[in-house]
Amino acid sequence: MTIANSITELVGNTPLVKLNHVTDGIDATIAVKVEYMNPGGSSKDRIAARIVDAAEKSGQLKPGGTIVEPTSGNTGVGLALVAQQRGYRAIFTVPDKVSEDKRAVLRAYGAEVIVTPTDAGPGDPRSYYDVSDRLAREIPGAFKPNQYDNPNGPLSHYYTTGPEIWEQTDHQVTHYVAGIGTGGTISGAGKYLKEVSDGAVTVVGSDPEGSIYSADDPAEVHQYKIEGVGEDFFPKAYDPSVVDEIVKVNDADAFEMTRRLAAEEGLLVGGSSGMAVVSALRYAREHQLGKDAVVVVLLPDSGRSYLGKIFNDQWMIDNGFEDVVKRTSRPSI
Ligand code: PMP
Repeated sequence: MTIANSITELVGNTPLVKLNHVTDGIDATIAVKVEYMNPGGSSKDRIAARIVDAAEKSGQLKPGGTIVEPTSGNTGVGLALVAQQRGYRAIFTVPDKVSEDKRAVLRAYGAEVIVTPTDAGPGDPRSYYDVSDRLAREIPGAFKPNQYDNPNGPLSHYYTTGPEIWEQTDHQVTHYVAGIGTGGTISGAGKYLKEVSDGAVTVVGSDPEGSIYSADDPAEVHQYKIEGVGEDFFPKAYDPSVVDEIVKVNDADAFEMTRRLAAEEGLLVGGSSGMAVVSALRYAREHQLGKDAVVVVLLPDSGRSYLGKIFNDQWMIDNGFEDVVKRTSRPSI
């Protein structure tokens, strides 16, 4: 019988699928790794499982313990899923700008959500960072994963995402493209692919315009709308030595591709996925990659989390993306 013992056993082993319609003029194979097929709906399920395993082994998490993390998004879902299956309490602090839908998902998985004021920055005791630090100190048996510093984030991609890509492409992968948030996805899988291919795999980072990773000058760092990627500091989970080149993408181009992936490729994915595909296609065109190139692009999460934003014409128009809407919206009768 092929019955999994628990939903958490089904993390990883996500499929690779070829892009056929958004790749005009490109001879290379562009294949995407569809991480929304993970049980919690994103690549972050991978890091949650390994971070909790490691904390159990090191004794940081004991039976009945509590996981506390400042996160509103995919990492929270992954951690909540693993926590409930293993009997831990999970508490997430989230700024009040985070939509009620996202908070509802965390609560649905059994986590407790503490909402903090968005205008309270790091150092302010009311901020979501500081509240999570205080709870981690005050609650007996509390463990704070700290995904930005935790080496088990990149390691989860070194031990799962990287080997999966290598095997799924019959060792033919030539390029690996991923967005950079904490940096774990690109650093972990990129390191594995470089090692196993003796340096033959080129690792391409994808970064929002305004993020520090691709800024030529610190003055260029500014706000952007793509979620889950880019930073204004360098986290420990990011290893720049693994990355050969970074292709930066603006919000409009990322969102246009995100809408095209749903409409033309049947892939309802998030904005960081659209961004990564834009980087991959630009890189392939600029470097004139031939038909022997196999470019694997990691798509971190599902478009269902962005129905009220990227896939909502009014939100797009209100946020200055009217041209994108004009080019990609379908007429209704
Ligand atoms: N896209 C989304 C939607 C994410 O939530 C994340 C994780 N922050 C990433 C991309 C980037 O992954 P990583 O943190 O491993 O760099």
